[in-house]
Amino acid sequence: MDTPVAENSAVTLLYVEDNQAIQKLVARMIIRRFPQLKLVLAENGQEGLDHFITMHPDIIITDIQMPVMDGIQMSRKIKAIDKGAKIIAITAFGDVDSLVESINLGINHYVLKPIKNEKLTAAIEELLKDIQMARQLRMQNEYILQMAYYDSLTGLPNRQLFKEILHQSLAHAQRHKRLLAVLFLDLDRFKVINDTLGHAVGDQLLKAVALRLKQCCRRDEEMVSRRGGDEFIILLPDLDSAQEAVNVARKIIDAFAIAFVIPDRELFINTCIGISLFPNDGDDGETLIKNADMAMYCAKEQGRNRYHLYNPSMDTHAAWRHDMENSLRMAQQRGEFFLNYQPEVNVKTGRIFSVEALLRWQHPELGLVLPNQFIHLAEETGLIMALGEWALRAACAQNKAWQGARHPNQRVAVNLSPRQVQSDNLADMVENVLRETQLAPRWLELEVTEELLLHDLETVIRTLRRLSNLGVHISIDDFGTGYSSLSYLKKLPIHTLKIDQSFVSDITVNHDDSAIAKAIITMAKSLGLNVIAEGVEAEKQMRFLYSLGCWKMQGYFFSTPVSAEEFSPFICKPYRHNKPPQNITTH
Ligand code: C2E
Ligand code: MG
Ligand code: MG
Repeated sequence: MDTPVAENSAVTLLYVEDNQAIQKLVARMIIRRFPQLKLVLAENGQEGLDHFITMHPDIIITDIQMPVMDGIQMSRKIKAIDKGAKIIAITAFGDVDSLVESINLGINHYVLKPIKNEKLTAAIEELLKDIQMARQLRMQNEYILQMAYYDSLTGLPNRQLFKEILHQSLAHAQRHKRLLAVLFLDLDRFKVINDTLGHAVGDQLLKAVALRLKQCCRRDEEMVSRRGGDEFIILLPDLDSAQEAVNVARKIIDAFAIAFVIPDRELFINTCIGISLFPNDGDDGETLIKNADMAMYCAKEQGRNRYHLYNPSMDTHAAWRHDMENSLRMAQQRGEFFLNYQPEVNVKTGRIFSVEALLRWQHPELGLVLPNQFIHLAEETGLIMALGEWALRAACAQNKAWQGARHPNQRVAVNLSPRQVQSDNLADMVENVLRETQLAPRWLELEVTEELLLHDLETVIRTLRRLSNLGVHISIDDFGTGYSSLSYLKKLPIHTLKIDQSFVSDITVNHDDSAIAKAIITMAKSLGLNVIAEGVEAEKQMRFLYSLGCWKMQGYFFSTPVSAEEFSPFICKPYRHNKPPQNITTH
């Protein structure tokens, strides 16, 4: 029997003696000498055995000669239950048979009658030392086991334990022809939180996430484990259908909609989940984990807070990604990138006030590749730094060339990835490019996203302020989709909010979208900021926005992005002459 005990929990001593006078005397002595012990008394072997079974005392002191069941019989039964039970037998001098019997039974100590206090206390002390040592050893072993199999931060099973349990569960699933699912998930932008708010906050968040994941997994056999960093894996054995795994994934995503409360703050964090299933997606643990991981990446590519079931075409996707990454590395040297330009129009005046430069990649085999297919990869690989600088230089040079060709002056808007804005030398780089291309800073606009505001805000503000002081115009792109607590808007040196196109597409029919757009417009005005609506495709959207007081717009309705050669100040002419909104004056 191996009952775990805390190192300092009380040691229990069972004393079995039929002679009440002796029992009283000895018990008193034990209490006096060993006040830390918990003493339990019994009057015969049967009673002693019952106590042993119910409370498993650490030490048993027993008389040999007793009615009902003698000390030898009781000790035999106890040893049959627990070979390691620690017994002190009290025998009468000359009871040789009992002595021999007790030696055979492995009784630890004998004290002869009449009992001498020193002898008994010495025996007890010796056993106490053994017990203490055994407890320490057990604690150490448990600790080692804990370290080897559990994650020290969250207390969840670690990678190793997960692997072993998954292995067993797979064998079970195979035998009983059951389904099993592996869910792989990580936290979106956890690194940003760690870097910005510090590791202590990051750790608290991981603990809170671990707890919430456990709450999403109700059945005992479901196991949440931490793989490392911000990666968690969940094992769902013994399923009837894949739908059950999907249900758990949905439950997790819903659970993440609620803020994680950690000391002094509330954090919202998103997750993406990949699901692989036994037997369809692999029959060994490693394959199932790898495929769930791959499915998670696919979920990520589709946006935040999603789950994705593995399917074999993802292998091709992974290969595709790998190829893309390689050709992306070569593309810049090969001159495969170029910029298209899309005007931003003031509907009130009919004038183009800014032209957004949008990156394009002419891939030798794939043809034209749009930024959504490669910007992400460029960011992950760090290639965005050189690419972004190239785009900035090309856009500024183009705007300067238009000015030289007597186009009306307009800003050129260049998108910046968060990684660029985080870098210490962005302001220097922009200044250099402006100097080289000789474009006056006020004809440059830089578009940043709200995501940026999760980063080290002080550095971001410092960089943006330097740029703003130069005279560069700064806009927040895709506004409304990000994380913003609006309070930061006052702190930032920005000039314009660009309402994300997702609020514009259904603005005339979806009440929520129009309410959000209206709120952004009102807020921008009260903060003295410009506001532009992106993705205006139809006249009714244009009119609606106009009626809300937003008259700066961009979208296919005015012009799609076009090459530098195709671009002209009159590109929005059809709109100006054929479809002027009511009450609009055009100059
Ligand atoms: P964005 O900055 O929000 O750019 C607007 C995107 O919406 C462009 O897609 C544009 O072609 C598209 N668009 C414009 N009008 C309409 C419309 O009426 N309807 C619809 N459905 N779409 C419209 P594009 O060119 O594919 O660029 C996608 C995103 O890629 C950009 O979104 C921007 O975030 C990023 N991007 C583009 N160029 C660069 C760049 O040089 N650097 C960085 N870091 N990101 C870039
Ligand atoms: Mg943009
Ligand atoms: Mg946008």
